[in-house]
Amino acid sequence: FCPTGAIVENSAVKVVLEELEKKEKILVVQTAPSVRVAIGEEFGYAPGTISTGQMVAALRRLGFDYVFDTNFGADLTIMEEGSEFLERLEKGDLEDLPMFTSCCPGWVNLVEKVYPELRTRLSSAKSPQGMLSALVKTYFAEKLGVKPEDIFHVSIMPCTAKKDEALRKQLMVNGVPAVDVVLTTRELGKLIRMKKIPFANLPEEEYDAPLGISTGAAVLFGVTGGVMEAALRTAYELKTGKTLPKIVFEDVRGLKGVKEAEIDLDGKKIRIAVVHGTANVRNLVEKILRREVKYHFVEVMACPGGCIGGGGQPYSRDPEILRKRAEAIYTIDERMVLRKSHENPAIKKLYEEYLEHPLSHKAHELLHTYYEDRSRKKRLAVK
Ligand code: SF4
Repeated sequence: FCPTGAIVENSAVKVVLEELEKKEKILVVQTAPSVRVAIGEEFGYAPGTISTGQMVAALRRLGFDYVFDTNFGADLTIMEEGSEFLERLEKGDLEDLPMFTSCCPGWVNLVEKVYPELRTRLSSAKSPQGMLSALVKTYFAEKLGVKPEDIFHVSIMPCTAKKDEALRKQLMVNGVPAVDVVLTTRELGKLIRMKKIPFANLPEEEYDAPLGISTGAAVLFGVTGGVMEAALRTAYELKTGKTLPKIVFEDVRGLKGVKEAEIDLDGKKIRIAVVHGTANVRNLVEKILRREVKYHFVEVMACPGGCIGGGGQPYSRDPEILRKRAEAIYTIDERMVLRKSHENPAIKKLYEEYLEHPLSHKAHELLHTYYEDRSRKKRLAVK
């Protein structure tokens, strides 16, 4: 066991290097929302520098055939999770306990191991990584006319919990892993340096279509409160049929450990909460279980600040690092023409030609998951 994780890091990088050199498979990569505001630090850029275009260019120089954006998966997650939330709300399923977001594998592991009674409260929607990777090995493979196993799919993520998520049997598609290797932001930095790619001199390049097209809502997944804000932008407009009077939900922004708000959704008051950092999460969950606080929808991120503070992000001694990366995320959102997931034209087309509609049979098959009881009590009972 290597206490620094260096051996694990080296082996993941080595596997990717080998595949890039062999060039036997179609090489596909996706990058998580928070990676673009942190990867620059690996090359000496100031914290909070947005390096999306250079990162995409570097991935192409490494030899990837297609560079896709996990943000596309985030827009899709909002369509499915937002629809699930509205469906549960209609059924009155949220009067007693809330629905929890499910895109953070650190949180999902905590539920499965410590709070298994909350499994039914987790959204069944896969994470953006899970959704996009399922599409890469089905929809995209079909478009190319190749078998899923002919594609080698790498995802660049802010934490090692995403490596664990990629290994879940629930994420397999047609008997093959949807993601073949997960690299952290730091590992990507290492790979780029090993291949002597001059990151600072690269031109800015765009993601490949269609699985690289996304909205401002999607990038918000990289910061605490972002999933909730993205979900509210879509749920409000889908439910009311009206345009949001104000697109920014200030109440869910900022680095406070727990944020709460009340939203008027077509005359119904919706109570929401946003929590990040494991200690805050445990505290809030205990309060919810004791019925001391009541919400309809809760966003949970295990890391402080959300994915911008993930364990696989570049190391930093800057005490303002989370604030600077968060500001960069909000800047990206502001600069986007489309800022609501349901307005993403590539997502609309995907539903038209492949998935039919949110929560359809096909969407359930590919984009939703289930959770297991992995608690100590359960393990002892099995023995
Ligand atoms: Fe990973 Fe942390 Fe983001 Fe959860 S909050 S997905 S553990 S980086």
